[in-house]
Amino acid sequence: MNNNDIIIIGGGLGGLTTGALLAKEGRKVTILEKNNIVGGGLQNFTRKGILFDTGMHMLGGFRPGQTLYRICQHLGIMQKLKLQRVDSDCMDEIYYASNHTIYRVAEGKAGFVESFATHFPHQRAQLQRYVDAIYELADEIDLFNLRPTGDGIPLHSERFMWSADEFIAHYIDDEQLRDVLAYMNPMYGAYRATRQPMFMPLSAHFTSTEPTALWVAHSNWPRP
Ligand SMILES: Cc1cc2nc3c(=O)[nH]c(=O)nc-3n(C[C@H](O)[C@H](O)[C@H](O)COP(=O)(O)OP(=O)(O)OC[C@H]3O[C@@H](n4cnc5c(N)ncnc54)[C@H](O)[C@@H]3O)c2cc1C
Repeated sequence: MNNNDIIIIGGGLGGLTTGALLAKEGRKVTILEKNNIVGGGLQNFTRKGILFDTGMHMLGGFRPGQTLYRICQHLGIMQKLKLQRVDSDCMDEIYYASNHTIYRVAEGKAGFVESFATHFPHQRAQLQRYVDAIYELADEIDLFNLRPTGDGIPLHSERFMWSADEFIAHYIDDEQLRDVLAYMNPMYGAYRATRQPMFMPLSAHFTSTEPTALWVAHSNWPRP
């Protein structure tokens, strides 16, 4: 092993992408994965001929010029991905069991606001401010925007560290809408008591409010 060698622990998307980037820079990379299949949280399986995702099913940032597009282009894998656009009028469907309501979330910033404002017209202005604030938070993250980082520890606004529930409650008055907007938070282990910082689910919100593309996970990775 020499100074150019890198060992990465964990063969999820983070480890694999980091490894690929470093290898492209000429480093000798070894990725150690404890499971017998790589991919981490991104997996799929078939039951009775139907393909299921274990979790990850949708990725944002794949329009030309956007972050993931640029990374995949840089790695030379963009053309190999089987991408399919999400339905522009419904990129997510949320079933709210308490009142048996289905919320269909349209793509894009304006679509996101409109989808919820249809059900909560008195919260239209609040929704707009909420989405704008999410974009502002996302803009604080150099990596999201593929900007070079400074030398020091990045400084963030105070609200960057607010918990997800604090953040939502700051912008949204309606209790039920607060609940609905938190629909992605459980996948990050965020519930009220944990006070999960907003930046954790931010990526999901950021993804969901961007004009996006659905990656149907047709993985060719070897199965155990
Ligand atoms: C239900 C659900 C739905 C999701 N949906 C989406 C979505 O639609 N779109 C989206 O963009 N994101 C989604 N996400 C988030 C996404 O899955 C994660 O952000 C992403 O998979 C994280 O990748 P990672 O490499 O950081 O971690 P992981 O995928 O968790 O990979 C970590 C890897 O490290 C390995 N490992 C851990 N410890 C060790 C060790 N000691 N030695 C060796 N190996 C080790 C693990 O086995 C694993 O393979 C979803 C998450 C969940 C839970």
